[in-house]
Amino acid sequence: MINRFINKLFKRAPVASAAAAVTLPREQHTVSRKLISVNALKVLSRLHRAGFEAYLVGGGVRDILLGLHPKDFDIATSAKPEEIKQLFRNCRIIGRRFRLAHIMFGRETIEVATFRASHDDANPHGQQHESGMLVRDNVYGSLEDDALRRDFTINALYYSNADFTVRDFTGGLEDLAARQLRLIGDPETRYREDPVRMLRAVRLATKLGLTIEPGTAAPIAKLADLMKNVSAARLWDESHKLLLAGHAFDTFVALRQHRLLQALFPATLQALEQNEAALWPFIAAALNSTDQRARQDKPITPAFLYAVFLWQPMRDRQQQLHEQGASHNDAYHKAMGQTLAEQSKFISIPKRFSLVIRDIWSLQPRLEQPNHKSFRLLEHAKFRAAYDFLVLRAEADESLATTASWWTRFQEASPEGQRAMTQAIAKKHPRRRRNFKKRRSAQKPAKPS
Ligand code: ATP
Ligand code: MG
Repeated sequence: MINRFINKLFKRAPVASAAAAVTLPREQHTVSRKLISVNALKVLSRLHRAGFEAYLVGGGVRDILLGLHPKDFDIATSAKPEEIKQLFRNCRIIGRRFRLAHIMFGRETIEVATFRASHDDANPHGQQHESGMLVRDNVYGSLEDDALRRDFTINALYYSNADFTVRDFTGGLEDLAARQLRLIGDPETRYREDPVRMLRAVRLATKLGLTIEPGTAAPIAKLADLMKNVSAARLWDESHKLLLAGHAFDTFVALRQHRLLQALFPATLQALEQNEAALWPFIAAALNSTDQRARQDKPITPAFLYAVFLWQPMRDRQQQLHEQGASHNDAYHKAMGQTLAEQSKFISIPKRFSLVIRDIWSLQPRLEQPNHKSFRLLEHAKFRAAYDFLVLRAEADESLATTASWWTRFQEASPEGQRAMTQAIAKKHPRRRRNFKKRRSAQKPAKPS
């Protein structure tokens, strides 16, 4: 309310143009060199010494101002990619849409981008798709231009290592104080230029605990469909940022609320809408456990969450194929392939991950029926992931609880204990045991009478 009033009062320009620039001297902000990676400081200094302008920008400045630890540091400079490459031996030029320099320091990469301008039809270097989407965006510009082409005001704050000031051209400091995420310029135009900004809005608001300013939030549901213009490969990368950064649960809920789930995981959404009560506890448990692992710095594979999201759609498809006459096994295999192919139209899943998803799924029927061969499953490369998957299923489906806890005990048991456990199963299912004996005796030559 108050913000809207302030906006009205100051007539905040709807189209990106530099608001009155603010320069905060060192004593008026909290960005201290101690909080910035040594490597980022090295890159800034070398660029300065070579006569270029260079600033820390983006998440690095934003997170420090919010009192958080940045996960990486981005630099904006007046140097062109080739000029950056000449200054740093450990530099790689990457990117098609944007050409960026990656400067490598062991495990840390500092991303250095040349100042860019937004562009109009008169400018031949920025190319636009008919939906308004930017296909190439390599128009170089000044520092102010660079600020205006960024996504959110709080992402367009620049820290200078030369005079230790923070510069703001878009009202980012004010928005930071109000803890809100506001797109620079006209929201609809900016989402059309790059629909991924809708995902970034949801992701950053969730991760940083910010509200999305109403004018920035309102067009998302209406424009969500534009996401189909984004390449399925880019969405695979974006889905990691959404799901593997420790806020998967809240992000999933927010994506659904803003109608973005439809554009990313349509089959999952449909399955949820069909049977929320049965499916949501399973998905929610997986999202929460992924967040817990991320926060404990435990390894996480996106394959696991994808296996969870697509499990019900795969089962439904299997059921359908079975009803159409396919054997149980055939239906299972076909359903796995078809479900993954369908999802890949939206988010392309690289083969090494789809293989893991298939493994997790294929092991479920075998885990559901422990038997005298259960030892062998322990050796399977994806046993652990498949077991974790079963445990989550059991959290949402009581009928699996006994089996899941059997596997928990089985892994912890000594070899004798394990033998006793499988023997107990054999006793409980004597038919299987009898068949086993029958087969063995069939192999023996008959005794002469
Ligand atoms: P994170 O903490 O996730 O790294 P970030 O804001 O730093 O958040 P990056 O992907 O590292 O995200 O991007 C660095 C900066 O580049 C952003 O802060 C923003 O200024 C700019 N940027 C990134 N993506 C876009 C985009 N799609 N459109 C406009 N500007 C963008
Ligand atoms: Mg960043």
